[in-house]
Amino acid sequence: MKPYLKRAWAEVSLSGLRRNVEVIRSLNSEKTEIMAVVKADAYGHGEEKIVRCLAEECGIKYFAVSNLDEAVAVRKSAPEAEILILGYTPPEYAHEIAAYNIIQGVVSTEYALELVKNTKDTIRCHIKIDTGMGRIGLKHDTPEECAGEIEEMMKIDKLSVEGIYTHFAVADSDDPDNIAYTDRQEKFITDTYDVLAGRGIKLRHLHFMNSAATCYRNNPRSTLSRAGIILYGLHPDVSLEIPAGLEPIMELKAVISHVKTVKPGDCISYGRTFVADREMRIATVTIGYADGYSRLLSSKGEILVHGKRCRIVGRVCMDQLMMDVSDVPEAKSGDIVTLIGIDGGDRITADDLAQIYGTIGYEVVCGISKRVPRICID
Ligand SMILES: *Cc1c(COP(=O)(O)O)cnc(C)c1O
Repeated sequence: MKPYLKRAWAEVSLSGLRRNVEVIRSLNSEKTEIMAVVKADAYGHGEEKIVRCLAEECGIKYFAVSNLDEAVAVRKSAPEAEILILGYTPPEYAHEIAAYNIIQGVVSTEYALELVKNTKDTIRCHIKIDTGMGRIGLKHDTPEECAGEIEEMMKIDKLSVEGIYTHFAVADSDDPDNIAYTDRQEKFITDTYDVLAGRGIKLRHLHFMNSAATCYRNNPRSTLSRAGIILYGLHPDVSLEIPAGLEPIMELKAVISHVKTVKPGDCISYGRTFVADREMRIATVTIGYADGYSRLLSSKGEILVHGKRCRIVGRVCMDQLMMDVSDVPEAKSGDIVTLIGIDGGDRITADDLAQIYGTIGYEVVCGISKRVPRICID
């Protein structure tokens, strides 16, 4: 392993990733292949090693990303892969889409025409249908109308339509109203596919499962399961358990740089928001909000030190924070501490941190900043 600065770093378990892939495969029918969603640097886990592991060791053939830069990066890590861009590519880059053999998500007839206008090559695409997410895609009142527009799009010169897909808004909910909503979204896209099939158009791909649908409403009609967050072992929504065997694969660690004893009345960190009410041992840790450890965790977050939970005291600074180690007498300068991960019998997950400051695990892992090296372990 290459040496790295032991200040603040993230350890990513590739064996954990392989196990998560196996669990996801066991959820899917034989007809459904995993499309690994590796946008945003593989949800902050480090795109290159994650993609290589998925392609070379797990046999994953399909990847999804958010943009062309990410697609080109994945192309380098996985030369044979099918890569779908879920988000927007400016039409003037149509040539690059074709040159790298990327599949573009196409959201309208107008956009499809812009793309093909900008290149001599054929653009491969999957057409996005907005069945209720309200974000991007063709929007129609009936599957028949929707199929009609797709049929017309298929006549566009240099556009190769290989599939249709949609995205669920509330597949991570067990509320009956939300389940009915997702049922309607699913019915719309499968009906659209069936109308096309009835007119003799059999597209290779029809996909609508994200992580939540893969876990809670797996449907063999989806040729791909666009698995994002569960690949990384986190919850689509913490109110619903994820299937057994899916485990977080990233740990976030840092080091104690300084330990001191403070007296009652001593203040800790900016703003003097924390004032010691007794004699305490305070340790300074080499991580801060510039590393993606949110300032919203000030005086709230907990850190594992020698297997015990220590509370953050005062404000999280840009590069450092302080915690109370009064109950961990062995804590000393140079010790490694766990901000996300397992230590002894205890564990703090990205989902736990998200709960504390009112966001989702997705944002926590995506927010771990660039200066934090990602270290792959097996
Ligand atoms: C991000 C994304 C996914 C993956 O979502 P998860 O909840 O992480 O599984 C799937 N499909 C689309 C269109 C997305 O944008």
